[in-house]
Amino acid sequence: MSWTRKLLRVDLSKGTCTSEPLNMEWAAHYLGQRGLASKYLSEEVDPTCDPLGPENKLIMATGPLTGTMASTGGRYSVITKGPLTGAIACSNSGGFFGAELKFAGWDMIIFEGKSDKPVYLLIQDDRAELRDAAHLWGKTAWETDDIIHATHQDPQMRVACIGRTAENGCLYAAVMNDKHRAAGRSGVGTVMASKHIKAVAVRGTQGVGNVDDAGAFTQATNDGKAVLAENAVTGQGLPAYGTQVLMNVINGVGGLPARNMRDVGFEGAENISAEAMAEPRKSDGKPNLTTNGACFGCTIACGRISTVDPTHFSVKDKPQYQGASGGLEYEAAWALGADTGVDDLDALTYVNFLCNEDGMDPISFGATVAAAMELFEEGVITTEQTGGVDLTFGNAEAFVAITEQMCQGGAFSEDLGMGSKRLTEKYGNPDLSMSVKGQEFPAYDPRGIQGIGLNYATSNRGACHLRGYTIASEVLGIPVKTELNDTDGKPELVKAFQDATALVDSSGLCIFTTFAWGMDNIAPQIDAACEGDWSVENCLEVGERIWNMERLFNEAAGFTADDDKLPKRLLQEAIKDGPTKGQVNRLGEMLPKYYEVRGWTPDGKIPDETRKRLSL
Ligand code: SF4
Repeated sequence: MSWTRKLLRVDLSKGTCTSEPLNMEWAAHYLGQRGLASKYLSEEVDPTCDPLGPENKLIMATGPLTGTMASTGGRYSVITKGPLTGAIACSNSGGFFGAELKFAGWDMIIFEGKSDKPVYLLIQDDRAELRDAAHLWGKTAWETDDIIHATHQDPQMRVACIGRTAENGCLYAAVMNDKHRAAGRSGVGTVMASKHIKAVAVRGTQGVGNVDDAGAFTQATNDGKAVLAENAVTGQGLPAYGTQVLMNVINGVGGLPARNMRDVGFEGAENISAEAMAEPRKSDGKPNLTTNGACFGCTIACGRISTVDPTHFSVKDKPQYQGASGGLEYEAAWALGADTGVDDLDALTYVNFLCNEDGMDPISFGATVAAAMELFEEGVITTEQTGGVDLTFGNAEAFVAITEQMCQGGAFSEDLGMGSKRLTEKYGNPDLSMSVKGQEFPAYDPRGIQGIGLNYATSNRGACHLRGYTIASEVLGIPVKTELNDTDGKPELVKAFQDATALVDSSGLCIFTTFAWGMDNIAPQIDAACEGDWSVENCLEVGERIWNMERLFNEAAGFTADDDKLPKRLLQEAIKDGPTKGQVNRLGEMLPKYYEVRGWTPDGKIPDETRKRLSL
């Protein structure tokens, strides 16, 4: 079965927890996790609602392979209408929480309404109840995790929770689980805070039940693990260097933006790279990187576990931050580092700890600070707004100070918590927000790499590399090499990556498997686990259906083709030097063709015939 066939509906206004059957007809059309939960959201939530109002819902969902023996099968997602963008939001996380939820007998939790006081949800197998969380409100995510464990005296309990930034209204707050894993993007943690849910604590002892065809599943998952082990990226590169292996690679090809994407190419990239993380430091001879780590069931183990130099200014008087914790991963290292011009590895590692401890998306946070730094440089923002902090590009002390201020709810935290779009609008310079649909860019410059620009512009949750990682093809040559500056063929490439990603995000697997796996490795695992037809063709059609369903939600929320755009800077300000010198993004050459290959109208709408073809 691989499904528990049960979802938990939590009505926060009434304080009730109710079990109901999972809609298996929808599961046949949308698989699980991102796809199935987005279907529930589309059916149950008015897309025009206030994301932080009681009418919005928050869904935590597993996929059919979550908790199974499939490699990386430990993922879950948080789905809601996002407050940063107003668009549909789905943030995916690893760790152990998702598998534990499945072991407790639940495929999904739907939170609706709003509690009139802080609560946490306690799930112990079939029993689920809301408990008072007054003593947890105002605590960091790490403190919350510790207090819940101390209360229930069960080391195997898994906790997903929010930190103080979510409570303070930061629009890009994350849901943290297992302390350093995050459903990080689009402000899903802010929605959780708006409902007064501090945490979900889960302990399950029921296993995941039987998959549909145990023999075929064992074969398919073993075959998949062998492919991962033999592949240079998943078998060697990611375990040894993590995603941080990309820092020097992307800088080398002319695709690494810096200083609020004003520049491309960062002179400090080597100082904050995977290679630098492995070098012994002067003070104690130990490297920043302690070891790698793995989420539930993962045979790749890309996670980074690091320490800050105990003599570094950021932690020397703070012993609680001198131990090992999660990070740095590439996207965080870029947003916190190159985008702010800071190349102090220890400062970035510490700031990343704080992002995890208080639950905020390091990409949106770093990019919003970068926008504030440009406003500061222009003299639009001064130390009057920043609480005395000299917010110049490259100033590590200032960055540490502003991050601590952000976590503690200090003077400038309300402005930074708006995200770069609202911040730059407030200060009269909206063109300085490097975002799409209000969500900040990750670590690849669309001027240097054309296809990723089209992906950002059309991403259903705002700028995001994890909706369609064309970098695999454009930079790494996976599955085939396409040229960085070509626009021909990029609409087809973007669509293929977006649809395949939607399927993987709905399965319980990690997207990093796709450095080695194609759909012909993934489909047999799903097919053996689930009843029904999960051929390669059907998997791809389900991915396309999910993408179009999300687009329909956004359309009903008021988004149009005018929102499929990039900031002026990326279309008009050519790269000043390096291997991609002179380039801008040529979105106008790609977008009409993209609409065509998607079967949409020239103004980006989904016509009846495409809806019919996809059974929408
Ligand atoms: S590849 Fe990395 S992020 Fe993905 S499941 Fe494994 S450890 Fe977690």
